[in-house]
Amino acid sequence: MSRSANENSHRKPVILLMVDTLMDVTLQKALENEQAPAFQFLIEKGQYFPDIVTAFPTMSVNVDTCLLTGTYPDQHNLPGLVWFDKEENRLINYGSSFPECRKLGIHQTLEDAFFNLNNKHINHDVETIHETLWEQELESTSINALVFRGNNNRYYHFPLWMKWFGRMNDNLAVKGPEGFTYGRFSKYISSRQYQRFWQRFGFNNTFSTQELIHLIQKNKVSPFTIVYLPDLDKWIHKHGRMFTKGIEKVDHQLQKVLNSFDSWEEALEKYTWIILGDNGQAWVDPDKQKALVDLRNIFNDFKIMKLNKGVMPDDQIILGVNERMTFLYTLDSENLPVSDFVPYLEKDERIDMIAWKNDGWIEVRSGVQKGKLKFRPDGNYKDDYDQEWSIEGDTGLLDMHLDNQHLTYGEYPDTLARISSSLNSHEGDYLIASVKPGYEFIGESSPTHVGGASHGGLHAQDSLIPMIVTGTDTSPQHLRMIDLKEWMLSMILHDQPS
Ligand SMILES: [Zn+2]
Repeated sequence: MSRSANENSHRKPVILLMVDTLMDVTLQKALENEQAPAFQFLIEKGQYFPDIVTAFPTMSVNVDTCLLTGTYPDQHNLPGLVWFDKEENRLINYGSSFPECRKLGIHQTLEDAFFNLNNKHINHDVETIHETLWEQELESTSINALVFRGNNNRYYHFPLWMKWFGRMNDNLAVKGPEGFTYGRFSKYISSRQYQRFWQRFGFNNTFSTQELIHLIQKNKVSPFTIVYLPDLDKWIHKHGRMFTKGIEKVDHQLQKVLNSFDSWEEALEKYTWIILGDNGQAWVDPDKQKALVDLRNIFNDFKIMKLNKGVMPDDQIILGVNERMTFLYTLDSENLPVSDFVPYLEKDERIDMIAWKNDGWIEVRSGVQKGKLKFRPDGNYKDDYDQEWSIEGDTGLLDMHLDNQHLTYGEYPDTLARISSSLNSHEGDYLIASVKPGYEFIGESSPTHVGGASHGGLHAQDSLIPMIVTGTDTSPQHLRMIDLKEWMLSMILHDQPS
C-alpha cells in the first residue's frame, strides 16, 4: 500500500528530533554562552517546557517505548535495557556494553536488539504511534530510533561479518513503519556516497540528520517523523552534565537541517518541530571507590548468576543492572523472598530507593534515611497527575508531601506511578533499587562512568527532560513522556492553524 506523504496539505507534518540526554541545565548554559543559535531560534519561535517527566528506569529503550505507546512499562512491558525473561529463563540485554554482551552471546544480543525488542518484547495489546497512524491511513517514519514497531515488514542488510559471526539473517522481517532508517542496516542514502558517516554503523547524529535532510529535499516527509540523535548521551556520560560543547555540536546538526530550507522561517512554515530529550543524567563521583556500588560485594553471601553460564541449578540471585537502577531477582522465592535482600541494601547510604511488592502493597525503604513506607493504587490521596493512592508511613523516604488529600512530589517526579509501573513491568520475583546522584550500580562487566554522568535512576537529575515545540499553542495534558503520544496525535490528525 502506498500512502502519499502530504495528501492533506492543511495538516502540518510533525518532525520530532529526539536528542538523547538533552537536559535543561546544559542547554541553558549553552544558550548563555551563545553556543546554540538553532536551539535559541526554535525556543524563541515556539514553546519551551523545561521539565517533562520521563519513564523509570530512565533508559532509552524504555523511555522510547513510553513515548511511542503513551504508556509506562506496566502496560508496554519493556522493563529496561537489561532484564530477566522468566519464560525464556535468560537475561535480556539490548547492548549495555560489549563485554557484557559478549558473555551473553553476540548472536543473542543482536537478535534481541534487531528483532525481539520490536517484534516480541513490546506488548501487542498497546499501540505505537506508528500503528495508530497506520490505522488512520497515514504514513510515518523512524530514523535511527531503537524502538519503532509499525505494520510493515522491514528487512535489514547485514554486512558479511555479522552474517558469519553473529548468524544474522537478511530474510527475517522486523515490524517497522513505512519510512525506516536503522543505521547502515536500512537506509535511504547510498553507502558509497556517505562512507564517512558509518561510525557506529550509522547510529550517529550526522547520519540521522543526513537521512532527514534527504527526505526533506525529496519532499518525502511523512505526516509524522521521529529522528533519533544518539551522540550527546555518550559525550555527557564521559564529560559530565555541563558539557555544553555537546549541545554546540547538536546545534550544528540542527543548523544543517534548518539550512536545508530557503530560510529558517520556511522550516517552521512547512513543519511542526518538536525537540525532545529522552532521559537526563546524574553526576557520578570522580572517586571510583565511592562512585561504584558493586552489587557482587553487597550480595557476596549468595550465588549470583554468571553471565556466560546462564542460570545454573545452585544460583540464587540474578542482577539486572541498568546503570543507576537495578532489578534484583530471586531464583527461589519460597526460601529466599526478595524481602530478604532489603537489609543488605538498606545498609548502603548511597542507595536512595528500594521497593518490592508485598501482599497487594508496594513497600519502600531507603539507605539514605530510616523509616518505612508503603503504598498502593486507589485511595484518599490524589497527586498532580490525578492518580489516586493509599499511603502509609514515612513519605519523606521519597521526598513526597501530603497536604490534606493532595500529594506532591519533590526530588522523585511522579514517583509512585513510576515505581509501581517498574514492579509490574514483567513476570518474575524481583525488587528494584536506585542510587542517589553521585553513584552507579555495577555487576559483572557493567559499563562505568566514574567522574562523568550516568542514568537509569529515579532522581530528578535522571528523570526530567526539556521539550521545545513550534507551531502550536497546545500542550500535553500532563508534562510527562507518557502524555505526549495523545498530544502529538491531536496535532497530526486535526487541523492546525497555519
Ligand atoms: Zn546513556
